[in-house]
Amino acid sequence: MESTVDSGFIRRAVEVADLNAVRVALYQQTGDPALAELPTAVNLDEAQRELLISKAVAWLEQNASPAKLAEPPEAELRALMNMATAEEMGDLEFEARRDLPAFKDFPWTAEWTDGRPELPEGFKVAIIGSGFSGLAAGVQMERLGIPYVVLERRSEPGGTWNINRYPDVRVDTISITYEFSFEKDYQWNEYFGRGAEVRGYLDHISRKYGVHDHTLFNRDLKRATFDEGRNVWVLESETPDGPETIEANVVISAVGTFANPRLPQFEGRESFEGEILHPTAWSPDIDLSGKRVGVIGNGSTGVQLLAPIAAEAEQVFVFQRTPQWISPREKYGAPIEPELHWLVENFPGYWNWARYMAIAALFQTHRFLIPDEEWKAQGGKFNPLNDKLRDDLTAYIKAQTGGRQDLIDKLIPDYAPFSRRPVVDNGWYKALTRDNVELVTDGITRFTPKGIETEDGTLYDVDVIVTATGFEIIKYLWPTEYTGKDGVDIHEFWSKDGPRAYLGMMTPNFPNMFMIYGPNSQPVSGGTGLPIWYVVWAGYSAQLVVRMIEEGRSRVEVKQEAYERYNEALDVEASKLILLQEEGAPEKNYYVNEFGRLQMNAPWYGPEFHRMCTQVDWDDIEIS
Ligand SMILES: Cc1cc2nc3c(=O)[nH]c(=O)nc-3n(C[C@H](O)[C@H](O)[C@H](O)COP(=O)(O)OP(=O)(O)OC[C@H]3O[C@@H](n4cnc5c(N)ncnc54)[C@H](O)[C@@H]3O)c2cc1C
Repeated sequence: MESTVDSGFIRRAVEVADLNAVRVALYQQTGDPALAELPTAVNLDEAQRELLISKAVAWLEQNASPAKLAEPPEAELRALMNMATAEEMGDLEFEARRDLPAFKDFPWTAEWTDGRPELPEGFKVAIIGSGFSGLAAGVQMERLGIPYVVLERRSEPGGTWNINRYPDVRVDTISITYEFSFEKDYQWNEYFGRGAEVRGYLDHISRKYGVHDHTLFNRDLKRATFDEGRNVWVLESETPDGPETIEANVVISAVGTFANPRLPQFEGRESFEGEILHPTAWSPDIDLSGKRVGVIGNGSTGVQLLAPIAAEAEQVFVFQRTPQWISPREKYGAPIEPELHWLVENFPGYWNWARYMAIAALFQTHRFLIPDEEWKAQGGKFNPLNDKLRDDLTAYIKAQTGGRQDLIDKLIPDYAPFSRRPVVDNGWYKALTRDNVELVTDGITRFTPKGIETEDGTLYDVDVIVTATGFEIIKYLWPTEYTGKDGVDIHEFWSKDGPRAYLGMMTPNFPNMFMIYGPNSQPVSGGTGLPIWYVVWAGYSAQLVVRMIEEGRSRVEVKQEAYERYNEALDVEASKLILLQEEGAPEKNYYVNEFGRLQMNAPWYGPEFHRMCTQVDWDDIEIS
């Protein structure tokens, strides 16, 4: 089919595209050996770049079409993946990566062994939460044809993205990696989607895949009790019309880690005469023009919202407790060109390989987290890669602040990059150089009626205090009460050293209950993009439910011994990472809980964790 756009348009499309993805997609279509000989995009010289672009343009002029490609045979797929990143990957890596280009309709979802059997009468799964994780679980139930209901505290789906509406809220992981692999070629407006766009995307997913019709909104789950006699969960929610109780055979908790805002408890809080705003309480009618604003916090949210606030307010004081490593991202804030939208739609395979390449950037992150003792003995700080990044980011701080030594001294962290969640720059350093912005690093002692007082006795007069102080992530599942077998309360069960789980999903004494994005689940430094993991964890939970139903049983749980063994190994693995070592300043890291234990992350090498979460070790599981 001949293309309806002219060749100038097509050329512009290819020029703004990911040339690695162009090369692999074109090779997949043509088998042209000249393409296989080209190096990866960063290493292309001018002539090679031109050769690649002109071959792609010529092919698209004749063959552009919205067709989707079927998954190539395994050997071919593996060869294409090796070509994409110019590396020979091992079997473990291939296993974890093979579905990243997402040629299959529903990668990682569980299926029945031999068609859907007759389900026990009244069988139902309850999913708590309708953010990314709850939607992944809902789509999985749709695929299996298992009756389910979603209980959602709020009146819309979207979770985090529904709750956070502060200025400039957007993803800090590029949208092509922050989307579901079963929704192909989604056309984002910006490379890094804004909050409202992500919210729209999740609403679209909820409706398109049928989850919306199964969602009971405005249901705040207060209590979940396992009835051992009947192997059902009794779920008590608060609704605008009063309490409501439903029952379900299986509970999948997808309540997120960032559901409960952390509100700083400074002395004098009640006496402050102005407004205190957590970013989750933002509304569009907030007008900061002419106001004096204090912003507490420089994590991902504090960094996102400073520049727009500084552009509007009369004066802003930024209160920083710990400096962060804040890094730039290419195309952050940029709209996706219409030409690229066309290419995504009309170049079969491009979306798959663009997605693969965007995720491939994360394959190497584990190497930043492991110390190199030899390197340290020779005077290095942590390991060569991490130290190089540290130098680059230090140079970035100096450049962004225009060499202002007063700022530089306060901004360079004394711990290694990758110790905490990487923060993406939204013009934060530049905003600090504005005349109406002042960086304050003295600790806050109290709020006064007029503003904020710091340790050196200075009083900062403000009208509004923005508390970008994060979330109560340590209190997982809180404040809902969960009571399992023998009346065990989940928060008591976890009281020794914070929430734990087997694979981040299951806890002994709580049969027929799974958590998605549970304790110790977030792969260190993001792994292969969280939405992939939500689908993987929903698929794991579903595999267990499928086996339980197929065997005619009614209870599935992790064995106590397996849970303990897993967690012992997890602690050992975590201790090897920068996050728990001196160079990583664990006391300043929200991934580490008050017991000094890594609670947020799965410390494993990503592909190993992927294998654990996709190939069920049935010896660890009891079905009865
Ligand atoms: C501002 C911000 C930006 C982020 N940006 C990124 C990013 O760029 N990339 C990335 O990978 N991750 C990012 N994250 C992490 C993000 O939270 C996850 O990627 C993802 O949105 C989590 O989805 P979830 O469904 O697990 O949880 P959530 O999105 O938090 O959804 C949980 C849902 O459960 C509901 N719920 C909670 N408790 C109850 C209850 N008791 N009863 C009923 N319903 C309940 C909530 O109302 C909510 O709708 C960001 C987080 C924040 C806060």
